[in-house]
Amino acid sequence: MRTSRAAIFHGPNQPFTLVSVDVPEPREGEILVRNAYTTLCRSDLNTFCGKRTEKTPTILGHEIVGHIEEMGPGAPETDCRGNPLAVGDLVTWAIYASDPAAALSREGIPQKAPGLFKYGHERIEPGNHLHGGLADYCILRRHTPVIRITEAVPLHVLSLINCSVATMSGALRLAGPVEGRDVLVTGAGMLGVIGCAMCRSAGARHVIAVDVNDGRLDVAGKFGASVGLNAARDGGLTKESLAAALPGGNVTVAIDLSGVPETMERMIDVLGIGGIAVLVGATHPQRALAIDAERLVRNLHTIRGLHNYNDRDFVAAVDFMERTHRDYPFADLVEDGHTLEGVNEAFDRGLNSGAFRIGIRMSD
Ligand SMILES: [Zn+2]
Repeated sequence: MRTSRAAIFHGPNQPFTLVSVDVPEPREGEILVRNAYTTLCRSDLNTFCGKRTEKTPTILGHEIVGHIEEMGPGAPETDCRGNPLAVGDLVTWAIYASDPAAALSREGIPQKAPGLFKYGHERIEPGNHLHGGLADYCILRRHTPVIRITEAVPLHVLSLINCSVATMSGALRLAGPVEGRDVLVTGAGMLGVIGCAMCRSAGARHVIAVDVNDGRLDVAGKFGASVGLNAARDGGLTKESLAAALPGGNVTVAIDLSGVPETMERMIDVLGIGGIAVLVGATHPQRALAIDAERLVRNLHTIRGLHNYNDRDFVAAVDFMERTHRDYPFADLVEDGHTLEGVNEAFDRGLNSGAFRIGIRMSD
């Protein structure tokens, strides 16, 4: 019987305990993966410090890559891109597994379909305990979108795909074509800088990054932002400050990763005629936005919301990373070198260092 180390999360601000657990054989439709690398998403850090609530005990970590260790009976023979799957393949997988026949899945929203299972978010139960990135093994449930990695991309860069990059792929899908457009990206954290790179790669005319931190705006510049606007200093995000930062600009696509009500209101306020705003960052309780309906009507604005992503976004994310990983300094976003034994220090670094991501290497 194989055994796996697992870092168990018991509750907010309690230290993780590292335990050894038995690894069950994969059942019908399942794939056993040996995790190679996990990055700590902001939501993992927020769960750890009590800003969001998760079922406990659990194994956190959902930005994962690993190698197929064993295929269960009836496991998928091909991945989401139609490539064959075999033992030893390096794979990444979506944050969710849900019934593809459900009505929501068929509408392109599998991440909200009934019976949803989310990696790094499930309670440990008898016989159902390896479902997070902070362990040596993970069992991929039936109906999990899986993709075999076909390019030589560093593990700590690949790890970013199945939360940050895939979510930004979803945001761009909702935003529609950005080619030749001026795009505003508010919040230059992990998702924001990846969004800048995606918009630049998709042919945006200008990408304007907005944040309150100059260091983050500098990083956004390395990921394709043409202009950085410090909303805490440059008069805030207004039509005037935008015109000063980008003379002749016309923002018709705006993507919010900040989740800050004032920022989202201002973002909608600076949208040009026919513009679309995609809200992604507001994943915590907050006050209602004040929206001028007459302005929205007369300017033909669209406002859309996105939470997580679907299979199509996941494929687009892997394609994007394989295609562009040499074009932008993705590796610089991850503080590499942490281990599962050092998981408590890793979370401490994540919360206190200002690093975009903390990376945990599983290999022995
Ligand atoms: Zn995440």
